[in-house]
Amino acid sequence: MRLGPRPPNVFVRGQGSWLWDAQGRRHLDAVQGWAVNTLGHAPPQIAQALARQAGLLLQAGPGFHNAPALALAERLAALSGLDRVFIGTSGAEANEGAVKLARKWGQQQRGGAATVISFSHSFHGRTLAMMAASGKPGFGAIFPPAVPGFVHCPYNQLAPVREAIGPDTVAVMLELLQGEAGVVAAEPAFVQGLRALCDEHGLLLIVDEVQTGIGRCGTLLAHTQFGITPDIVTLGKGLGGGVPIGAVLAREAVCRLAPGDQGGTYHGNALVCAAALAVLEVVAQPGFLAGVQARGEQLAAGLRALSSRHGLGAVHGRGLLRALALPPTLASGLVADAARTLPGDCGLLVNPAQPQRLRLMPALTISDGEIHQLLQLLDEALVVCTRPV
Ligand SMILES: *Cc1c(COP(=O)(O)O)cnc(C)c1O
Repeated sequence: MRLGPRPPNVFVRGQGSWLWDAQGRRHLDAVQGWAVNTLGHAPPQIAQALARQAGLLLQAGPGFHNAPALALAERLAALSGLDRVFIGTSGAEANEGAVKLARKWGQQQRGGAATVISFSHSFHGRTLAMMAASGKPGFGAIFPPAVPGFVHCPYNQLAPVREAIGPDTVAVMLELLQGEAGVVAAEPAFVQGLRALCDEHGLLLIVDEVQTGIGRCGTLLAHTQFGITPDIVTLGKGLGGGVPIGAVLAREAVCRLAPGDQGGTYHGNALVCAAALAVLEVVAQPGFLAGVQARGEQLAAGLRALSSRHGLGAVHGRGLLRALALPPTLASGLVADAARTLPGDCGLLVNPAQPQRLRLMPALTISDGEIHQLLQLLDEALVVCTRPV
């Protein structure tokens, strides 16, 4: 099916931060499967885990335990400090699971309250309910009727949230950095204020860490940088390192599902869980996250230098989730095309997240040298785009 325009390249092989197309041209990849390839392309740790698990057990089925699913649930609980874990296959499914927990909480603790407050320009996935939850402009109106039970407030403003809270409110759901919006960060005081409002009114705080989690922002989970403890955290993208997975992590007190309320044929899939365990093994190694922070700073400093050299905007983000703001005269899609098709022997893949925001989400294993090269290639692309005609 035709889902939208794509570049003509057909990618056939990857290694670390590099991606080759069928013509044999190589690209330094700062998209990485849309921020999913935590360890870069074809990491041996995941290849080995998948090969080993494929030879042992692909899936036992949702009605049985399997070893990798149990190990992953325990690992995620230990690493996050949350008590219980549901493992699904996508970020959207994880967010759906979080809303299910919240509505169950509302039935039992808040007299049937069911409405979730989310934020303008947020992105929570593409299921019908998550399209309604997302604050991406126009998104909820594509497939009417929209799923009810979601209201949107402006991001980074506490007063409208306070006003929106009513007897039917059950939870507040947010991204700490809105990735699809072009890496727009929440203010720590705003997030702390939301936590206080939730405590005051008996609401649940759901943090969507599908994009920000698993080291992407320099800590295992981004919320630890904001000084709050969520009731529910959702994961996806980077957790699988390129393999489809999603997870809901929650406090014991909010896990009130009755048998049969939640599930899915592929939930806790053994093969996928083995890959996620391999990712966590690497990310939890001492020094790994300090390296992400250091390279994140290197990337941000380099982007700031490019910005002043080319007269561009601010640099946003944390860790290795970054965006460069562009002036109205320079469309991010143009820069991304120029970067991909640079005349030299290699191209650069970057993401035009918004018309005036260029997003970079390289592998967490990218080297100093590769960041240096990335900045050089982006510089060349910007020269091409800003050259007077
Ligand atoms: C990508 C993303 C999702 C959706 O994840 P899928 O795996 O595509 O369903 C949800 N929330 C955020 C913040 C995301 O970045």
